[in-house]
Amino acid sequence: MKMCIACGMPMTQIADYPRYDISKNYCKLCAKSDGSMKSFDEKLEELTLRYVEEHSMDYQVAKETARIILKKLPAWKRW
Ligand SMILES: [Zn+2]
Repeated sequence: MKMCIACGMPMTQIADYPRYDISKNYCKLCAKSDGSMKSFDEKLEELTLRYVEEHSMDYQVAKETARIILKKLPAWKRW
């Protein structure tokens, strides 16, 4: 089983891949509509807003937390 390099989600079904393309190592949530991978800034913004929404976190705190989480993932190690 593969894990998305950009968000860590386990990809267990073909439907988890962008455009059903299992040669990709990122999931459909991390793909743009053209099938290419989203940028670090796009994922950072997404995750930040999710934390703000789900945990009522302060935007800046959520952004720092999101940055730490994302940097543990293979796609963003060098960011
Ligand atoms: Zn992903």
